[in-house]
Amino acid sequence: MIRYSGLNLVLQGLRGHRGWAPVWRSAAPKSRYDVILIGGGGHGLATAYYLAKNHGITNVAVIEKGWIGGGNSGRNTTVIRSNYYYRESAELYDFSLRLYEQLAREINYNIMFSQRGMVVTAHSRHDMELAARWVGAMRRNGVDTDLIGVSEIASRVPALDVSPAARFPVHGGFVQPRAGTARHDAVVWGYARAASSLGVDIIEGCEVTGFIHAADGSSVVGVETSAGPIMADKLGMAVAGHSSVLADMAGFRLPVTSYALQAFVSEPLKPALDTVVLSLATGMYISQSDKGGLVIGGGLDRYSSYAQRGNAPVIRDVIGAVAEQYPRFRRVRLLRHWAGIVDVMPDSSPVIGETPVPGLYINCGWGTGGFKAIPVGGWTLAHHIATGKPHPVAAPFNLGRFKTGALIDEAAASGIAH
Ligand SMILES: Cc1cc2nc3c(=O)[nH]c(=O)nc-3n(C[C@H](O)[C@H](O)[C@H](O)COP(=O)(O)OP(=O)(O)OC[C@H]3O[C@@H](n4cnc5c(N)ncnc54)[C@H](O)[C@@H]3O)c2cc1C
Repeated sequence: MIRYSGLNLVLQGLRGHRGWAPVWRSAAPKSRYDVILIGGGGHGLATAYYLAKNHGITNVAVIEKGWIGGGNSGRNTTVIRSNYYYRESAELYDFSLRLYEQLAREINYNIMFSQRGMVVTAHSRHDMELAARWVGAMRRNGVDTDLIGVSEIASRVPALDVSPAARFPVHGGFVQPRAGTARHDAVVWGYARAASSLGVDIIEGCEVTGFIHAADGSSVVGVETSAGPIMADKLGMAVAGHSSVLADMAGFRLPVTSYALQAFVSEPLKPALDTVVLSLATGMYISQSDKGGLVIGGGLDRYSSYAQRGNAPVIRDVIGAVAEQYPRFRRVRLLRHWAGIVDVMPDSSPVIGETPVPGLYINCGWGTGGFKAIPVGGWTLAHHIATGKPHPVAAPFNLGRFKTGALIDEAAASGIAH
């Protein structure tokens, strides 16, 4: 793997840029691997990288039915934060944030991580009381969060209408200074490059169509794919919106519901917004990309679906919220909008770890918020697959909690738009 550096950029420039190697090796499937990971999104690729890097397991394949990053990891609004409510979530997401903080250096790939902060706005006295409660919980869990007043919000977000006559008057809010954004494709490509350079096979255009079980039916020992059967000692799956489809193939049921989640990008503007802002009243959140486009998101579509079109009422609500809250953006043209299919668990928290099928591990249920968790999702699933034991940070997020009742109910708790 060529190291990316200023010196190599100059040297390659002198050679007419003909010496760059492909970012990752495109591999043909072998007949057997130590570990197969299904799904070439951020979580599958990060799991492969940490299996190789942290545990020395390099005979690994990532199998992706389309192209890597073609799922939600390349479709999201790139917000990274750890301001969740419960201690278990704070530990999980803050671990991820800390991994993100050193990721570019570690994998020698510019993921454009920008810790521009995130402001959450409260629009009533009741919102403010909740905000104070959230901030108390987050600070107790060691997450950098501060309650802020209207004047500080006005100075951090000049484009936001904070006047008392606003349709959504701002009463205050909270800020996480270490939150921010990263380039989503770069996270996927960076992990792919790092995993590939350690020996992991990345197999694109190969769909898993079924599981191969041991003769006594006790465990899974491989997968049927569009390129034929491939055997493995252990399997992991991180297929986001299609987790229940794959679980069904493997012979178990997941308490998961799949919804479309939409995102919007405007034409490029001069710098106008240098933080991420989420409104508790409208669920709309907005940031500005390095290219200048406003990146806008909102809540889930209102019915479950695998259709990646997205529906009109959500478009109206989200764009209406932008127009009401940011008068100066009213005439900005949208370039495009799209949807991804996200998998939501009943308690709005993810699942990391074993499945009821021996040999098969799962990472799913991130709903609207798994981009921020790609490093920790990969790190902890790799740990579980390699050692046979849950990573302490991921242990509470086992599938068994839906039997024991030990739920981590973040649905309303952290102000997320589920
Ligand atoms: C519009 C939108 C906005 C979002 N905004 C944010 C945000 O701001 N911050 C945040 O933290 N999160 C956000 N998310 C959520 C985040 O994108 C996801 O939680 C995360 O990307 C999930 O990553 P993954 O690797 O698990 O899944 P994916 O990236 O979806 O990868 C799964 C892969 O599995 C493949 N696959 C499926 N079935 C098969 C099969 N049978 N065989 C082989 N391959 C298969 C798919 O093709 C896909 O590439 C957003 C999501 C959307 C849709």
